[in-house]
Amino acid sequence: MLSNAGRVFIGGKWLEPQGSTTLAVENPATESSIGAIVLGSEADVDLAVAAALEAGRTYREASKDERIALLRRIREVYVRRYEEMAAIISAELGAPITMARDQQTATGLGHLDAFIGALEQHSEQEELPNGDLIIREPIGVCSLITPWNWPINQIALKVLPAIAAGCTCVLKPSEVTPLSGVLFAEILEEAGIPPGVFNLVQGEGACVGSALTKHPDVDMVSFTGSTRAGVAIAKAGAETVKRVTLELGGKSPCIIFADADLPAAVAKTVYDCMNNTGQSCDAPTRLLVERVVYEEVLDLTAKAVDAINLGNPALEGDHLGPLVSAIQYDRVQLLIQAAIEDGATLLRGGPGKPTGFDVGHFVRPTVFRDVSNDMMIAREEVFGPVLVVMPFDSEEEAINIANDTPYGLAAYFHTADALRQARVTRKLRAGMIHVNGGDVKYGSPFGGCKMSGNGREGGRWGLDDYVEVKVLHR
Ligand code: NDP
Repeated sequence: MLSNAGRVFIGGKWLEPQGSTTLAVENPATESSIGAIVLGSEADVDLAVAAALEAGRTYREASKDERIALLRRIREVYVRRYEEMAAIISAELGAPITMARDQQTATGLGHLDAFIGALEQHSEQEELPNGDLIIREPIGVCSLITPWNWPINQIALKVLPAIAAGCTCVLKPSEVTPLSGVLFAEILEEAGIPPGVFNLVQGEGACVGSALTKHPDVDMVSFTGSTRAGVAIAKAGAETVKRVTLELGGKSPCIIFADADLPAAVAKTVYDCMNNTGQSCDAPTRLLVERVVYEEVLDLTAKAVDAINLGNPALEGDHLGPLVSAIQYDRVQLLIQAAIEDGATLLRGGPGKPTGFDVGHFVRPTVFRDVSNDMMIAREEVFGPVLVVMPFDSEEEAINIANDTPYGLAAYFHTADALRQARVTRKLRAGMIHVNGGDVKYGSPFGGCKMSGNGREGGRWGLDDYVEVKVLHR
């Protein structure tokens, strides 16, 4: 698929990795191989970090105009190779091609435009009222570790602000979806990124990922993925006091009050929960419904789920594809089974493969009703198309259930009452609040609190993560 897939990109060159283990990349819809990568080793990390360190000596002096021009050139090449990117994401992730093009690949362009805008507005020096001068400088060498669920979204949210801020970096994409990372590197190369400013090493978290988080010449680690890995990375980075920004899991609540536009609220919640086959960290996966409209909302939910089609990701359309891997399939099955054993009632879906989908990691879009918030299915991030529904009697109870989670990434609610909108927004503990179907937008901060992490990616907040503040007392 890509001639550079088996290589690492270091110091502006495609090289044979020092590691020797080959890993096949699977199409999760067909379970057949679509290519292979060679897993990198610690020696590859050493080379890549050395290249980034060396390149940083000159790149940190690049002017803001030069960095904006670089981002614009990346944009031009990205647009040219857009269809190629969509095809790769569809094949390695199993995202239906329409979704891969209109949502997954589109994030690259959306973030490029937002970061160009943020950099244009970014002031590198600022005089304080006390006469001191604030100087904003690139933090240095950055290790960027990304997951498989929105592969280019997360690569763009890290690589673009790093190079916009004048940093140099080493990217390790998830080895489950490594090919979009290879194409992204080719795009940067074609756009003329200076050698060593961006480096790519493929490999496993336990080896390449771990080496990237401990390396003494790395100043910052930005990680998106599971809370488990995030905790390990924060500990590894602590030894050398790195800045570590984390964007982790979620178990986001969605509260539907009785005065909401119920059909619109349900349609949006079911869509947001099931989109990308439920593999989104900010998906609304716990639906809390005011008791007076509970049965009506369950009815609407069942109808919305019945209208979902599964299908071949290679075909155009608004169907859902499979989960990304057999590991992910098994994990989702385990959690569905646990919910049944815990006494949750199935409204739709359930365990096993959907009829007619014996090949591929397809699962049945599943809804449980009458779930209690202490069941495993209401506490664990499933990362599959699984929604749990529970009733509440008062606004206070809804907020208590919504906040009763270790996570704090996103929270959603629907109500027509403007006073309640302000009250509930204040009380929900999450980094991102969505009211009446408001969507994530490019240029706004993405991130959460509690066990969902500490970083804010996107726009000027994303840029600030890669900046060191220096003060000149004069
Ligand atoms: P992980 O968090 O394990 O993987 C994400 C990335 O981190 C991958 O590139 C991985 O490499 C790397 N990694 C893993 N462990 C370490 C480590 N100790 N040091 C450095 N890098 C590391 O996610 P999984 O793919 O295993 O998914 C498991 C669960 O995580 C999902 O079911 C879901 O609940 C959650 N998840 C959350 C995401 C989010 O956006 N918040 C994204 C993806 C998953 P490698 O793949 O080689 O292990």
